[in-house]
Amino acid sequence: MRRCVVRRAWCVGIAFVLACQARAGAGNGAKTTREFNGQTAFTYIEQQMAFGPRVPNTPGHDKMGDWLAAQLRQRADTVIVQTFTPKTSKGVTLRLRNFFARFRPEATDRVLFLAHWDTRPKADKSANLGQQQLPVPGANDGASGVAVLLGVADALKARAPGIGVDLLFVDGEDYGDFNDSTETLLGARYFAAHLPAGYTPLFAVLFDMVGDKDLQFLQEGWCSEYGRSPTSSVTDRCSRREPARPSPTIMCHCSRRVSTRSMSSTSHFRIITRPKTQ
Ligand SMILES: [Zn+2]
Repeated sequence: MRRCVVRRAWCVGIAFVLACQARAGAGNGAKTTREFNGQTAFTYIEQQMAFGPRVPNTPGHDKMGDWLAAQLRQRADTVIVQTFTPKTSKGVTLRLRNFFARFRPEATDRVLFLAHWDTRPKADKSANLGQQQLPVPGANDGASGVAVLLGVADALKARAPGIGVDLLFVDGEDYGDFNDSTETLLGARYFAAHLPAGYTPLFAVLFDMVGDKDLQFLQEGWCSEYGRSPTSSVTDRCSRREPARPSPTIMCHCSRRVSTRSMSSTSHFRIITRPKTQ
């Protein structure tokens, strides 16, 4: 969860692009269109919550994974399931699944959006001592990012994207102590170590904890360290149409240019490779 607070700022947004498109149309008097249906996305949070906590090795986690796989198969061109069973430093073997949903899988130019679908087994950072040993419900921390990506999947199914788009739902991200690499970011590490052949997305964006009542998205420090972020490009594009304005529909992002090798070895995950030639 603590890591999630940080990673909340790692997100980006197709919603940003969609919002800009909508504003551009509105500014010209044209009919405003929204390809992302927020109300529908909210129902995806409710459906996840109905499973209870989605903690690995629990029935709620199993049901959630089955549900998510079914949702993705109804929308994506291709769905790849990565099943893996890592063992934690405490000797617990976890049954985990990553879901990799691809739109236009044949396209060379691709972008990647990610969210984790598991939830924390303990609310150890809760200000309420009585809750610290209880599972996190995961409406914000877990379900919100998944809901956004499912909403994106709806939009992509309704209208195929001009480039390839991949949605990655990682598992085992929030299982335990973020100082223990055997308990956290497990799905991301596994994916980084088992990439599709030649996989080099233009950029990647992680969504997590995007359901706050009062959202704030900050530029993530890794972005400036590893290169110009896709958010900057999106902001530039938007500002040519009209001034960018803060909006709940605007997500920030993260772009890291790292090699496959460093991806698989870094304690933070993430992708983002191949900057467009420049
Ligand atoms: Zn999280």
